[in-house]
Formats: sequence, C-alpha cells, structure tokens
Amino acid sequence: MATGKINVSVENIFPLIKKFLYSDHEIFLRELISNATDATLKLKHLTSIGEATVEYGNPVIEVKANKENKTLHIIDQGIGMTKEEVEKYINEVAFSGAEEFLEKYKDSAKDSGIIGHFGLGFYSAFMVANKVEIITKSYKDEPAAHWICEGTTDFTLGDADKTERGTEIILHLNDDETEFLEENRISELLTKYNKFMPVPIKFGTKEKTLPKAEDAPEDEEPKKITVDNIINNPEPAWTKQPTDLEEEDYKSFYRELYPMQFEEPLFHIHLNVDYPFNLTGILYFPKLSNDMTMQRDKIQLYQNQVFVTDNVEGIVPEFLTMLKGVIDSPDIPLNVSRSYLQADGAVKKISSYITRKVADKLKSLFNNNREDFEKKWDDIKVVIEYGMLTEDKFFEKAQKFTLYPTVDGEYFTYEELEEKIKENQTDKDGKMVILYASNKDEQHSYISAAKDKGYQVLLLDTPIVPHLIQKLETSKENISFVRVDSDHVDNLIKKDEDKTSKLSEEEQEKLKADFEKVVPKEKYTIQLEAMDSNAAPLIITQPEFMRRMKEMQQTGGGG
Ligand code: ADP
Ligand code: MG
Repeated sequence: MATGKINVSVENIFPLIKKFLYSDHEIFLRELISNATDATLKLKHLTSIGEATVEYGNPVIEVKANKENKTLHIIDQGIGMTKEEVEKYINEVAFSGAEEFLEKYKDSAKDSGIIGHFGLGFYSAFMVANKVEIITKSYKDEPAAHWICEGTTDFTLGDADKTERGTEIILHLNDDETEFLEENRISELLTKYNKFMPVPIKFGTKEKTLPKAEDAPEDEEPKKITVDNIINNPEPAWTKQPTDLEEEDYKSFYRELYPMQFEEPLFHIHLNVDYPFNLTGILYFPKLSNDMTMQRDKIQLYQNQVFVTDNVEGIVPEFLTMLKGVIDSPDIPLNVSRSYLQADGAVKKISSYITRKVADKLKSLFNNNREDFEKKWDDIKVVIEYGMLTEDKFFEKAQKFTLYPTVDGEYFTYEELEEKIKENQTDKDGKMVILYASNKDEQHSYISAAKDKGYQVLLLDTPIVPHLIQKLETSKENISFVRVDSDHVDNLIKKDEDKTSKLSEEEQEKLKADFEKVVPKEKYTIQLEAMDSNAAPLIITQPEFMRRMKEMQQTGGGG
C-alpha cells in the first residue's frame, strides 16, 4: 500500500469545497453518476471500435445505501481505472481543474451551479462525506486498485480484490448528511437529476406483476416477480429523430416530464440542430391563461441528458419561458453568470434559433389547419403577443399568423382585418381605426353601439395589449387602435349623421348637464347620441390618451 500527497498547490482545498463552492450539497450524486455514466459510455465506445475486446453486455449503474455503516455506494460496470490512472485522473488532473476553477470563479462560484466541467466533479463527494473510497478495476487486464482519502490532501492507494470490471465509489457520510441514506431522498435526487441519463440506473428492486396467460382461470392470483428498480428512461424522446416519433410519443413524454400535470399540451416543437451549435429538445405549448406571472420556469435544461437547471433565463428568449419542455445542449456555457450568458455569441445564436423554430411552427400550424389554430388561439395568444412586443424578429414573422379575434368569435389576420375595415372605419385624418374591446361585459353597450354602425370590434383582452397596440401603431402605417368606450370613436366618419334626436335641443342640453354633475369630468366625456339609434341615447366615454396612460402605469413597462 502506497501513501502520498494529492498534488495541489491551493492550500486547504477541502474546507473550500465544503463551505463555499457548492451551495447545493445534493449535486454530489449527480456528479458521481455522471462519472459512472461517462465510464460506461467510454467502454461502449472502445468496444464498438474494437479497442477493448471485453463484452460490453447490458451495464447498469447501481446506487446502494447502507444505513448501518452510513455509507452510500455508486457502482458502475464501465472502463474502470488502473492504479496509474487513479494517480493521474484522481490525484493530479482533478485538482488542476479545481485550481483553475477556484482561481477564476472564487466569487461567483456560489451561483455557478455546474462544476463537473472543471474536473471537480469527483471531489464534490467531500461535501457530504468525511471519507471516500474508490475500488476500481480497469477493463485492461490489471489488478484492481483501492484509493482512500479522508478529506485531507493525504491519500492511500493500494490493491483491491475486486474481480468484476468497473468502479465502486464508497462515501462515508458525515453525521449531518445522513439524509442521503434515506430511500425517499435518494429517489428524489435520482428523479431530479438522472431521470433521462443514457445508462440504466438501478436503485433497489420492485415487484412486477406478470400478465396472466390467456387461458388462465379467472380466480388465479397474478404472478409477481422481483425486478431491478430502474429509475431512468435512457432514451428520452428528445434524443430520437422526429421521424421516428408519433404524436402519442410526444404526449407520453410530456406526461413523463410533468407527472402531476393532467392537462395535455396543445402542440410541440422538436428542436434538432448540430451546426453551428449542438442542440436538441422538445418544447410544448401548454394552455396558457392571460395571467403571465404563474407559469415560468417549466423548461428544463440538460447537458447530454444530465439535468442542469430549470432556469433557462438568458438562453431562451423571455417570452418563451412560458412554454414547457426540455433543451439539451453541450454548447451552453453553464459555468458562468447569467449576464455573461446573455452576451455570449453561441447563446445568442441558440436563442434566435429557438425563436425562429417557434415562429416557423406557428406559421405551419396556421397554414395547415387554420380552424384548429383559431381554436387554440386564446390559449396561446399571450405568448405570441408578448413575443411580438419583446422580440423584433418574432414580431416580423408573427405578422403571418397573428390573429385578431372579434367580439363575435371571428378570427382575422391583419391583412383580412384591413380589408374589412378600410372602407368603413377611417377617421377624419384618413387613418384606419381599429376598434377593440378589452372586456365584453363591461363594455357591452359600447360594443353594440359600434356594431350597430357596422364597425368591426376586436376583443383584445391580455394585459400586454396596451403595449402591443403602441408597437403596432408605430410599426404599421396609418392605423390607430381605439377602444370602444373611448372618445376617439367619435372621430370616425359616421354613417348615421342624418338621424335626428327625439329630444329637443334644450332637453338634450339639460340631460347632458345633469349627467356631467355626477360623472367626473377629468375621467369621462358625456356625449349625446341620436335617440333612434338602438343603443343608449347618451354615451359616456373615456379620453383615449388618459386611459392609455393609466393602463401603461398599471401593467408596467413592457418593451
Ligand atoms: P470530469 O468528470 O469532469 O473529468 P471528475 O472530477 O468528475 O472530472 O472526474 C475526474 C476523472 O476521474 C474522470 O475524468 C475520470 O477519468 C476519472 N473517473 C471518475 N469517476 C470514474 C469512474 N466511475 N470510472 C472511471 N473513471 C472515473
Ligand atoms: Mg465528472
């Protein structure tokens, strides 16, 4: 048995690892399982190119807890390590990565989240363990090795009698980390980080009921057998080709992702690109309500099937964070701050790729089945409107499929709407006036008054609308949006000017004066309408300008 010193120039690295580097102790398990997965996939590669002549078989990674000894075991059947390799990869390389990491990210390390990419992954074990053992046998015909380290820079490296290929990592857990021996806690972690990793992961066993034979008697008890409890799906839908998947596969993957979600998604977008960056994933449009605050952080970010985070801010444009699904990319730098991310060239490309794919999908849904698209509109409009407001590229593309619903449930494209109103809805300056209501019930009488005059009235009711209208007015020529209860409606060239009121001029003035006594002048304008109109003889409107100011203040800035 040899003893030695881990090659490290940064003094007291272990206390650092424990205290500052990882705010999240639990990620040690993800790191160790990632290593076990890497080791297994390396062996797969070596056997496939004939470099290793051993049988690859059907390797699994096993996680076992021993409550009595307070140990947690992670066992793989991968390439293993020779003694020399333990020296090199564990004692030397791993720490050179650690040094670099600490130098560079001393201050920001807390929120960096990802560590594996600095060769620090293995040492995360010391966040929860005071002693770590590696028992490993290489696929090469060499004796097994046993490495022991007790959280200082001293280690021992000797022989082991392990005969099967692969590596076992044994963690002797700290007294205050014994939660990681509890079945529920381990299950929770495995589900969170490892649910879609590419090598089967076994944690305990479970009972499986066998299907009855067809000719079995009615009262026969179904047979039960004990099988490995495999916690992951090594081939999640996003890793497959879209052509190999049916609609139902996408739906069942959605249920796998969100087991507690009973509502089906409206449609999906399969992302798949390998140049100039690597990215796969599936995004789902869930049914969205007009309330935009509740539904963020549902997209999960993976790196080579390892869960990283469900905060994709900066990687996906903000409006798309209302969607659900997964994104998997080895090209997203995960080790840096969010503000750096937003300036990163690759990330910008990824973000605009995703935006484009979403726009293309919406356009094809619209083109291929407009009726269905109209049905879905109310459930997706909040995302589209928000996207139009915040992303100029999306705004341009959205012109082709954005719908403008009327209060009567018709849906027009912008072009169609223009066609409908250009004759009848222009104001005195020759501007086209788009009338809309924001609430069908509250603005009911204004709506019917406008409809009586043959005007089209849209229903635009999301909280973004006031901002979006401004954007549309500035980007399109010669249009103005006017809410049905606004004083600007009066600027429309009316067709019914020849109607005369049944009230005398004097009576009209008095009626108006009476109303003005009770309705605050700064907020509303009183106007008299011809009495033979079906609508009310008198209308109270809001000055358009004032109302807009107020709305903007209520909904905050928007873009
Ligand atoms: P990284 O995974 O980023 O290389 P780690 O600190 O997680 O860094 O691991 C350091 C090295 O130790 C790995 O690159 C690998 O060579 C070796 N190693 C760790 N775990 C295993 C394992 N289960 N089987 C074989 N080699 C391993
Ligand atoms: Mg690693």
